[in-house]
Amino acid sequence: MRFALIDDQRVEARSGLKGLCPGCAQPVIAKCGTQRSHHWAHRDDMKCDFWREPETEWHRSWKNNFPTEWQEVILPDQQTGEKHIADICTDYGLVIEFQHSHIHPQERTSRENFYRNMVWVVDGTRLKNDYKRLLKGKDNGRALKPGVFLIEFPDECFPLMWLGSPAPIIFDFQDSDSTADPTDMRNYLYCLFPVRVGPSVVLTVWVRNDFINMTINGDWLLWVSRSMDELIQYNKDIQYHNERQRQVQTNIAFAKFTRRAAPYRRGRRF
Ligand SMILES: [Zn+2]
Repeated sequence: MRFALIDDQRVEARSGLKGLCPGCAQPVIAKCGTQRSHHWAHRDDMKCDFWREPETEWHRSWKNNFPTEWQEVILPDQQTGEKHIADICTDYGLVIEFQHSHIHPQERTSRENFYRNMVWVVDGTRLKNDYKRLLKGKDNGRALKPGVFLIEFPDECFPLMWLGSPAPIIFDFQDSDSTADPTDMRNYLYCLFPVRVGPSVVLTVWVRNDFINMTINGDWLLWVSRSMDELIQYNKDIQYHNERQRQVQTNIAFAKFTRRAAPYRRGRRF
């Protein structure tokens, strides 16, 4: 973790310092080696929040896009007393979790149920083929409007463990080789949206800074809510259209049948 408490102040790790974990109040020691970012660690590698993964440079650089007081925020469940440390919790109540390693679907669901109002940011560089198959899915997808695509075969384009999440998931493919070249598609962020259109999933493409700015100023939550409403309405319109088509086809078939049956009816005596 980045912050520990010393005299009730959040303090970053510096060589020789000792502090208290803000989550469990146990002593933590400053780790200031050269391999990893300076951080605080519990003794004996004890983890007080079993959801937390070892922090990488990728985590640290994402967190640094946000005010320090929004980083590593302790969130308790008022009823059970269960506590977890959110990577980011904004003043608008949005939790942002940065996930680098593999996560078991059950743990993913537990975190989503606990935080509720959240967005995942996933390090897409961990598995080599994930970027290629997502980009292929986007290129083969149907553009609903600029930057918004319908992907018909999501199993072929996204890691299975992220499909079916009720939260938006941002995939980040930028790595140490990335340049600022605007044509490099790795500089964009790819959001898997939590509402399907028929069998298709919805993918939106984001300029990195737009996503960050919108989470900071609160517009992200408005955008998610508005987009959910639009897609739910879009689904209803499609269902209505399909139902109308089905009725028209039924009526045509019935009209053909009655025309064929008419001569027999005329000749029948009662
Ligand atoms: Zn702790």
